[in-house]
Amino acid sequence: MTHAPASLPVSPPQTERRRISILGATGSIGCNTLEVMSHLGGREAFAVPAITGMGNIGLLAQQARQTGAGFAVTADPDRYHELKSALAGTGIEVGAGPAALVEAGERDTDLVMAGIVGIAGLAPTLAAVARGADIGLANKECLVSAGDLFTAAITKGGGKLLPVDSEHNAIFQVLEENQRHAIQRIILTASGGPFRNYTRAQMAAVTPEIAAAHPNYSMGLKISIDSASMFNKALEMIEARHLFGIEPEQIEVIVHPQSIIHSMVGYCDGSVLAQLGVPDMRHAIGYAISHPRRANLPVERLDFAALARLDFSAPDEERFPALTLARTAMQRGGLQGAVLNGAKEAALEAFIAGQIGFLGMADIVAATMDRLDDGRVAQSIEDVYAADKDARAVAASLLRKSA
Ligand code: NAD
Ligand code: MG
Repeated sequence: MTHAPASLPVSPPQTERRRISILGATGSIGCNTLEVMSHLGGREAFAVPAITGMGNIGLLAQQARQTGAGFAVTADPDRYHELKSALAGTGIEVGAGPAALVEAGERDTDLVMAGIVGIAGLAPTLAAVARGADIGLANKECLVSAGDLFTAAITKGGGKLLPVDSEHNAIFQVLEENQRHAIQRIILTASGGPFRNYTRAQMAAVTPEIAAAHPNYSMGLKISIDSASMFNKALEMIEARHLFGIEPEQIEVIVHPQSIIHSMVGYCDGSVLAQLGVPDMRHAIGYAISHPRRANLPVERLDFAALARLDFSAPDEERFPALTLARTAMQRGGLQGAVLNGAKEAALEAFIAGQIGFLGMADIVAATMDRLDDGRVAQSIEDVYAADKDARAVAASLLRKSA
């Protein structure tokens, strides 16, 4: 692979500073977002009205100073004083706890990067949606757990939803809005994870450390294990359904170990449009924050001759039942997405703690989904939290029984 040509302008001229708040700035998505912003002109090009993190106060304070943020928030209410003293003398406002997180989402901006992990990202992102901000959406739970509620809020708020998950970002790039009626299928690519070629017996014996080694992307522990089990792809199927308003039967998954094709859209005339690039999250992040323009991003360029080939195979749903569970959740609708996700979180924690094996995760999720298949639909964010909590409680009781 080759590097970006140095002769290209770093970023097209920009007249006004673009205002971008970052929810979850200290995480992988957040840090990559700040890196891309710094490459595209830093403080000259961007203002940062609000920035949030949780436990890593040192990093959060450093990011707030570097960007000249207006408001810095830690999600942990007990860390307020620590953050306050780390930012003493800067004039940066400081907040802590859930209400301050929501306030961070409410601060006036052009775009909010939603990079908080988990259901905790929902309330602050919805606050940004409600005031009509454009959203760079990395957080999965907004769509997986609160899909219909979230998309209705986007429509009401009037802002644009710019997917940052690389597969959905790819689809967003090649989906022809004026040809929506002609879309036949959406094809999500999956690396297949480290166990692509393992037998079920081999998969049953893997440890969390082995499961966390993603072949192409460097990510946190939980998302890496979710990739290995393909629960990450399951969440992405549900995300795609809500983002692009398509039916469950129109969503396909194909294993593509090189992760060069980030995803594809198939049209009724048989054409398939794909978006390609090196596996690097800065690509999708840069696309979202520069939209509708394209900026010169600090990512490697594809060298097709060096690549030589791209491989594909059908996923084996016996070994990766997460994909079947995603389809079941979509078909059942209502709060089953929230239930799948909540149960998956509980099962994932049990796997990391050594309580269950790798394949036990899908069994727990399936049983929890069946137990909570009551046709409930979310009327409010509280219903989503309740479904998440119920799913974790049911999964925990099943885990106790299996111990
Ligand atoms: P991460 O764990 O690296 O960072 C998460 C961020 O959220 C941190 O800033 C952390 O301080 C904050 N946070 C954690 N718990 C919180 C809580 N309870 N309340 C408020 N803030 C909290 O995660 P990440 O890899 O950056 O992923 C962020 C989101 O983007 C996830 O939903 C993930 O699934 C999604 N995503 C990530 C990638 C990736 O490559 N990392 C790719 C696609 C989608
Ligand atoms: Mg993805």
